[in-house]
Amino acid sequence: MRETVIAGNWKMYKTIPESAELLRDILAGIGAEVPGRTVVVCPPFTSLAAAGEIVKGSHLRVGAQDMSEQDEGAFTGEVSAAMLRSAGCTFVILGHSERRQYHAESDERVNRKAGKALAAGLRPIVCVGERLEERERGVTAAVVSSQIRGTLAGFTREEMAQVVIAYEPVWAIGTGKTATPDQAQEVHAHIRDLLRQMQDQATAEETPILYGGSVKPDNAADLLRQPDIDGALVGGACLKAESFLTIVSAAKSIR
Ligand code: PEP
Repeated sequence: MRETVIAGNWKMYKTIPESAELLRDILAGIGAEVPGRTVVVCPPFTSLAAAGEIVKGSHLRVGAQDMSEQDEGAFTGEVSAAMLRSAGCTFVILGHSERRQYHAESDERVNRKAGKALAAGLRPIVCVGERLEERERGVTAAVVSSQIRGTLAGFTREEMAQVVIAYEPVWAIGTGKTATPDQAQEVHAHIRDLLRQMQDQATAEETPILYGGSVKPDNAADLLRQPDIDGALVGGACLKAESFLTIVSAAKSIR
């Protein structure tokens, strides 16, 4: 059975005390660990170490929203994979469309970051997705193929076993517009097929592919019912414990 992953991307929200409060509320309602289901929160950098302490002893995992491709050095403002590990992180989101849009993140850089993350024992959540104009031009599959091939180039089967992919159509992020379950399923199946071509059948079968883009409590179940949608990367709806936990429970009852 393929792993299901529900990850919350807190973006640039929540001070340290606010983060602690949200984490305590999530922990209070998350319930027992479900085999094959992984729940991850990705607070801002400043809250990571506190989050790492708060989740200790629970099955809630902590991830960062980005990291440096460098190990260490004179890179002002950057945070390394080792630093994230020491703060208690086990996941890191890479190549989010907001990083691509505002920080010129390229597939090549995401690939280098993912390599560093894997070497440090962090599981990368690698984001891909087309812009509205690309969907309208009918080039979604080509765009996503090129992002997948670029960001995941050169990894071994063992490394790929640690990778999580998030398909996030850019036009659906933070807009309230969700891809329909059929639209999302079509791209997820395409990504799985690409993994088969790039690596092998087992990798294609086992890699969790999450959907992201305005996932909410009222649409999560329909998306998660699709055969190739293995979880969700949730933005806005993860900032309240109740809505995040509703999505986490939907994953438990469906997958
Ligand atoms: C995201 O930030 O990855 C995201 C999917 O945001 P939202 O759920 O708010 O669209």
